[in-house]
Amino acid sequence: MNVLETARKILLLEQREGCRDRAVVGGLDGFLEQVRAVALPTLDEADRRQLGDVIGPLEGYSRASQRDRREMLDSALHALGEALVDRRAVDARPAGRDTLTSPLPQAGEEKLRPPAGEGTAPKRVKKLPSATSTRAMASDLDLPIDQVPGVSAAMAPKLKKLGVERARDLLEMYPFRHMDRSSFTPIAELSAGEEATILGTIWDIRSERRRGRMVTTTAVIADKSGSITATWFNQPYLSKTLRQHAEVVLSGKVELFRGRPQLRAPDWELLTEDDLLHTGRIVPVYHLTEGLNQRGMRRLMKRAVDSFAPLLEDFLPEEVRREANVMALSEAVAQYHFPDGWPARDQGQRRLAFDELFLIQITVLRRRRLWQETQPGIALKAEPGWLEQTTRQLPFELTGAQRKVLDDLLADMGSGRPMNRLVQGDVGSGKTVVAALAMLLAARHNYQALLMAPTEILAEQHFRSISALFDQLAGGPFQAPRVALLTGSVKGKARKEVLDGLKAGTIAAAIGTQALIQEGVELQQLGLAVVDEQHRFGVEQSSSLRQKGINPHVLITTATPIPRTLGLTIYGDLDISTIDEMPAGRQPIKTKWFGPEERPKAYSFIRRQVQEGRQAFIICPLIEESEKMEVRAATAEYERLRRLIFPDFKLGLLHGRLKSREKDEVMQAFAGNDIQILVSTSVVEVGIDVPNATVMAIEGAERFGLAQLHQFRGRVGRGEHQSYCMLLSDSPAAELNPRLKAIEETQSGFKLAEIDLELRGPGELFGTRQSGLLELKVAKLTDVDLIEESRRLASGLLERDPNLDASPQLRERLTTFWRGAEAS
Ligand code: ADP
Ligand code: MG
Repeated sequence: MNVLETARKILLLEQREGCRDRAVVGGLDGFLEQVRAVALPTLDEADRRQLGDVIGPLEGYSRASQRDRREMLDSALHALGEALVDRRAVDARPAGRDTLTSPLPQAGEEKLRPPAGEGTAPKRVKKLPSATSTRAMASDLDLPIDQVPGVSAAMAPKLKKLGVERARDLLEMYPFRHMDRSSFTPIAELSAGEEATILGTIWDIRSERRRGRMVTTTAVIADKSGSITATWFNQPYLSKTLRQHAEVVLSGKVELFRGRPQLRAPDWELLTEDDLLHTGRIVPVYHLTEGLNQRGMRRLMKRAVDSFAPLLEDFLPEEVRREANVMALSEAVAQYHFPDGWPARDQGQRRLAFDELFLIQITVLRRRRLWQETQPGIALKAEPGWLEQTTRQLPFELTGAQRKVLDDLLADMGSGRPMNRLVQGDVGSGKTVVAALAMLLAARHNYQALLMAPTEILAEQHFRSISALFDQLAGGPFQAPRVALLTGSVKGKARKEVLDGLKAGTIAAAIGTQALIQEGVELQQLGLAVVDEQHRFGVEQSSSLRQKGINPHVLITTATPIPRTLGLTIYGDLDISTIDEMPAGRQPIKTKWFGPEERPKAYSFIRRQVQEGRQAFIICPLIEESEKMEVRAATAEYERLRRLIFPDFKLGLLHGRLKSREKDEVMQAFAGNDIQILVSTSVVEVGIDVPNATVMAIEGAERFGLAQLHQFRGRVGRGEHQSYCMLLSDSPAAELNPRLKAIEETQSGFKLAEIDLELRGPGELFGTRQSGLLELKVAKLTDVDLIEESRRLASGLLERDPNLDASPQLRERLTTFWRGAEAS
């Protein structure tokens, strides 16, 4: 058997068995000693070098710690993986092995040598697709990852874990940042504390074992201006790789050691390698996974970029590319990984970001066209004066904004095309009544309406308020339509009654949780589906709701305002209306942060409010580990407050583990002021409506997101009394938290959402991960200019060519794009 193959088997076995040096009798050191003595001399130049790469990292294995062993094995297997693949490619050809496997420049090839000390990057030679692949073809982009040259057997599963299935996916493993190591500092000018890159010759290098097991490698490097030492730890093989007289580029931090500058564990690059990778250039930094180090990753990526990036077909139609003024695709990918300079990197990035946004735009704009132009909708017209007449029964006047939004809804529902509209409005802006009116209109036409809420508590509350509204609004000659509640807790006979009523059409509207989209829920004819608080649901759930009917109208409401950029992208297939006005008479909620030592002050404030007849919420800190722990903590806090702080008041406890009926009882008691202080976990977050509650105290406020804090705050200030939001924390550092500062200073949920987007990025805010929405790799949803440009160009292209008939490559790319997005 081939010695490389034997080594591979042994090393894999060793890795599998947990790096305990049990794979070969006598230990790995002994085995390698033998390989060196017996096998090595029989090999030719190229194989010898490969084997050297494999055993080099394993030097001192038997004495190394388990953790170091793991690293060592990874490096060795990595080298072996490359060696084996190269070999296979070589074996398939009759001759010429040496030229293919040698990493050294051949005679006559330009030697890369930056002028020392002049602070410039070396000129790079553009590389053609790797010589190891027989012939470059576009289909190679779909090569399974374990067949990609440079990817070892050990590496493939790790890459797969990162979602890399094929060669083309590898190209999309973009660096998350770049480091500037492109200019060289003359050694004499190095100063302690700075990150620097030097170019010099190794005068001397040696490895020593110190203090038992630590191996220290020390090198002296010199250029024309002076010399410096560099040290590495536990990398004994370095003194075999970096030899005396070799020219090297080193990058790292300059530190003072015994009063003299020294480079500690710098990244290194031998100048004889055919392209500078880790130093002497702008260097990409990648996300790593266990067992893949930065150097290995970079080497792999460089190879992949050289081999595969040139194969990428530019799917952007010529005129789009020209108008957007973006770099060609292959070039952009190459430059974004291994840039020739900062401007090139930025250009590459801009092109890749543009692509993501453009593909999203094309998708949502097409979906919208398809939806609106080809699907017949149900025309649910409101006769003139209907809205006026109906809303006259309300105990309040609609705000101008509510009216405006209702105009949008009525126009949509009467148009004969299916409505697909999102209504956003701050907490307390009155979205429920708007949704209820739309539902009532459907009922007037004998169509059914569904409203899906994210929690049982909310569904139950909506059920109560919408039933009451229907009773008020129906009036006159119309009977109030029958409304039913359907949640997980509606069981047995009651459930059957609801299901039968929905199927027969005797129930006009059902309000519930996700129980509404389960199988077995059939409707006579669905006219309108309302999704309350969309951001809590996945896209699939909204569309399952839609599928309960034939092209029903869809209304989505959210109190988490969609920033404009998201409205243009992820939500780009929706029409958006905004309730941007609060009902009259609402006072701003006074919001204040209380430090750990101010807690007694906070409690006495709550006490005074309750004595004046008001009520308070106290929210317990978020515990992400488990709901059970959260419930336990809330229960303990409730007991503490009840016994020690507010023994004379009536306290209640609300958490997610209560049965629906118990929750309901607690909420009813709170609504009736039989509970004065409600201690709760975050289940109270959305929609609860108790106008007499004036204090919202949030414990561990720094653990909550901005949107959530704002939602909590929205639970108070719903009545005539001045209301307060108190942010409490045991952590003094919380005071510096920018979210708490923002919520203290800002009342508007819209402004807070914009701030949140800036602070956190859109992912968490909209739960893109949970909802299966897209995760962007390069583009930023804060880049309004590029978003608008992509929108403009996408919509222009679709005007000219609605079905993209002239751009088959773009169509193809759309498929792979969304496939990739789903995978991640
Ligand atoms: P949200 O938009 O947060 O869902 P709701 O629909 O729950 O808000 O409304 C909050 C409160 O404001 C409810 O008590 C509702 O009856 C009341 N409300 C809604 N519209 C008006 C209005 N135009 N004038 C006064 N009160 C209103
Ligand atoms: Mg609401």
